[in-house]
Amino acid sequence: MSGDADDVVRFRERLGLPGIIDVHTHFMPERVLRKVWAYFDSAGPLTGMEWPIEYRRDEDERLALLRSFGVLRFTSMLYPHKAGMAAWLNGWAADFARRVPDCLHTATFFPEEGVEAYVREAVEAGARVFKSHLQVGAYDPNDPLLEPVWGLLAEAGIPVVMHCGSGPAPGRHTGPEPVGRLLARHPRLPLIVAHLGMPEYTEFLALAETYPRVRLDTTMAFTDFTEDFAPFPPAERGRLAALGDRILLGTDFPNIPYPYAHQLHALERLELGEDWLRAVCHGNASALFELG
Ligand SMILES: [Zn+2]
Repeated sequence: MSGDADDVVRFRERLGLPGIIDVHTHFMPERVLRKVWAYFDSAGPLTGMEWPIEYRRDEDERLALLRSFGVLRFTSMLYPHKAGMAAWLNGWAADFARRVPDCLHTATFFPEEGVEAYVREAVEAGARVFKSHLQVGAYDPNDPLLEPVWGLLAEAGIPVVMHCGSGPAPGRHTGPEPVGRLLARHPRLPLIVAHLGMPEYTEFLALAETYPRVRLDTTMAFTDFTEDFAPFPPAERGRLAALGDRILLGTDFPNIPYPYAHQLHALERLELGEDWLRAVCHGNASALFELG
């Protein structure tokens, strides 16, 4: 077992957790993932942040690592940056979920002709979770083409992990305002705000307080890396505690610039208690996806 795995296993043992559920991990077609890594390699000069990918390994090694950490269930977050890609990505993800049964079948979409049909097809094929990336996709969640998609997902109760905060890089349609308008029309949408909405933590926590079906994932939040450029306001810790049943562990594995265990330690040092940690790292996702 690698040192990384030892660290994660000790974390689980301290909490008496049977395993971890990670709602925000990335698996995608190999050549797409290589492009994502190339983006992070070049992001340093663009953003002033070096972003060395910790787990740049082959797919089977990445799967073996997650399992050695005791991650029982995870996702294959993938997302298009232009029209004409999403249905193809969904085909890949459906096949991935078939060959990797511990992965929750993941799908995605883009505002384009035919989106309602392929989203419906993905739902009928058993998709458990969707990913929407407003910064990479550069689309407005209020695009009329997506209206039937939100309705369909709200009705089916299928969560959408949405990268809608303006960190680490803002987009034309990121931030709490467009999502606020979306939720006003679809208050029952089971939205999972990725990265805890960084850096607009306060505003996205407020949306979760307003809409009981809104959840947040912890992806990269509270880590040393993120605290450097988008620190979580200490005054808001009480709201994290109060929303303890709606915060889900996410990590961004494998595209992270630090070991997996660091995300867990970053949650631990918030000092919100063991019950909170158990709920965030296992119980909340287990209930949401009915994995019990
Ligand atoms: Zn991600």
